[in-house]
Amino acid sequence: MNMFKSIQYQKLFAAFAVFVILFTGAYAEAKVRIMTSLPDFAAIAREIGGDKVDVEALAKGYQDPHFVDAKPIYVTKLNRADVLIYNGLDLEIGWLPPLVTGSRNSKIATLNSPGNVDASQYIGTVLEVPITRVDRSMGDVHPRGNPHYLLDPRNGIYVAGGIAAKLSEIDPENASYYEENYKNFADSLKIKIKEWEAELAPYRGTEIVTYHKLWIYFTEWAGFDVAGTIEPKPGIPPSPSHVASLLKEMEVKHVRLIIAGNYYPEKTAKLIAEKTGAAFLLLPAAVEGRDGIKTYSELFDMIVGEITSALKEKTGAANDHLSHNQG
Ligand SMILES: [Zn+2]
Repeated sequence: MNMFKSIQYQKLFAAFAVFVILFTGAYAEAKVRIMTSLPDFAAIAREIGGDKVDVEALAKGYQDPHFVDAKPIYVTKLNRADVLIYNGLDLEIGWLPPLVTGSRNSKIATLNSPGNVDASQYIGTVLEVPITRVDRSMGDVHPRGNPHYLLDPRNGIYVAGGIAAKLSEIDPENASYYEENYKNFADSLKIKIKEWEAELAPYRGTEIVTYHKLWIYFTEWAGFDVAGTIEPKPGIPPSPSHVASLLKEMEVKHVRLIIAGNYYPEKTAKLIAEKTGAAFLLLPAAVEGRDGIKTYSELFDMIVGEITSALKEKTGAANDHLSHNQG
């Protein structure tokens, strides 16, 4: 009888020990679950969060971030998130808010929720903020200023700093880990930014045309001037009269390059390129926007590389500059 009892206790103790090991083991390895609206934020969050986080983006890098198909599975993914990082400035207003509401997740539900991260709060200056109220019914998809700030790599550093601070707040035990990763991210991106600026330097002041007002932050950083856009207003498709006046403007300003995010229709841009003799580049505008672009830094390697080789081909003078710089 006694014997039987002690075996029972041993069994119970063993089961309890296994439970403790499993439970504490799982607890120690619990990662912060981060969902992001766009893949650029996911790429940055991966570099900052390392092995302490699980990160997934909703949209793909080859999708127009203004118009993403809201799949039901996104609601489930958001329901399990500890943190949601999104662009803000109304970039995702057409698809993200109903998903967040549907997820019924108090960690991310509102701006005041601890895991709700509008990354636009971290950047320096928002460009093209309208002076008068913009009526969205007129189709302008930039009612609160230009939301495409991640195409200036310096804003990537600000956003990374914001993400590191937020992760430290949510997961204070690993704060120094996030801080260290942020420092490494910022240091290596600053070195890359200097390299890209050197590559772009011979082409400062170049007039270019873009499809959407997607590249304002990029051109501001690169020192290009935007002679015009193929869309008359953000989100409005080109009309024949608008194209006609753009063609005139391009002739006056000797525009040699047209660029577009690779999710925009090519037809009109190609036609304008043919008529004006300008080069036309369909560029990835986000991480994973093309095969091989897995990090934020690789995105700019690709964009800067393609733009400078197109301009090198189109402008002989810059070639001299380059060889002079190298010599
Ligand atoms: Zn836009």
